[in-house]
Amino acid sequence: MEPLDRATIWPYRDGEPGPLYYQRYSHPNAIAAERALAELEGGETLMYPSGAGATTALVLGLLEPGQTIALAEGAYYGTAVLFRTLEPWGVRFVEFDQTGAPPDGVDLVWLEAPSNPLLTMPDLEAAVAHPARVVVDSTASTPVYLRPLEQGADFALHSATKYLGGHHDVLLGAVACRSADDAERLRELRGRTGIVAAPDPCWLLSRSLKTLALRMERHTAGATEIAERLRSHPAVETVRYPGFGGMLSFDVADGDAARKVETSLQKILNATSLGGVDTVLESRVRWEGDRVPPGLLRLSVGLENVDELWADLEQALR
Ligand code: PLP
Repeated sequence: MEPLDRATIWPYRDGEPGPLYYQRYSHPNAIAAERALAELEGGETLMYPSGAGATTALVLGLLEPGQTIALAEGAYYGTAVLFRTLEPWGVRFVEFDQTGAPPDGVDLVWLEAPSNPLLTMPDLEAAVAHPARVVVDSTASTPVYLRPLEQGADFALHSATKYLGGHHDVLLGAVACRSADDAERLRELRGRTGIVAAPDPCWLLSRSLKTLALRMERHTAGATEIAERLRSHPAVETVRYPGFGGMLSFDVADGDAARKVETSLQKILNATSLGGVDTVLESRVRWEGDRVPPGLLRLSVGLENVDELWADLEQALR
């Protein structure tokens, strides 16, 4: 591992700044994390302090007042809330079904692969045929299962807080860019706006990326097994799982039944977020209201023993 370097300044040489001079513009731990992710995504990558920070930076960097984003319906709830928060600056958004083509006349297409928590996959081919540029939030796929830039997307965005960090101890975002010009523009804007990731989380991310492929393999094995068992459980109505990764969602009868599952868990954490080594479950209706069925539970399967996880779910579903 490269050392953790918290310096905010680096002295000039012969009266001139070198490649590193002030942390807001760049620092060694961001550079290391960006290089490792760039290799995985196949395009120049920039770190941000959170997934939401990365989303804000992309909107500010790519759009002008009066322009419109086509956002995948059912994408992470916080993304729509953030776009609405940015509406006073003149940016609009419309939602569309990402399993088909994006609507005409929009300036940016925003997909999520798979969507959180409804687990739809986008029609990437239809999206890249659209004249607007395409962002794929591939937080839940990770580059282990999807490399959006290779399929013609312009940007791959991550909440690195999830699988890339993987241990529920890092808040970070990342954007991988297909074009070097876009990366340069975003880099310039990042330094100006100060939407910058700190050294400590970047250092932790570099550590986490070393085990990403192994963790994803295990998340997938655990989630595949749990999804199958949930499908044959009499208290479970619908199970959504795309066949890879650790995130799935399932429905119980109603909001009361979902609350009972949440409060009966003994091993699985009743908490928000996803993508970490510890399994977490939560009812999404508390955040998303009628965007999701009232009995929808999102489960992020961690790396624990599957039989122990199932035993906990089974007793909570009783
Ligand atoms: N994108 C997706 C798919 C997410 O699930 C989340 C967070 O839950 C975000 C973006 C936002 O990321 P962060 O919480 O790191 O700001």
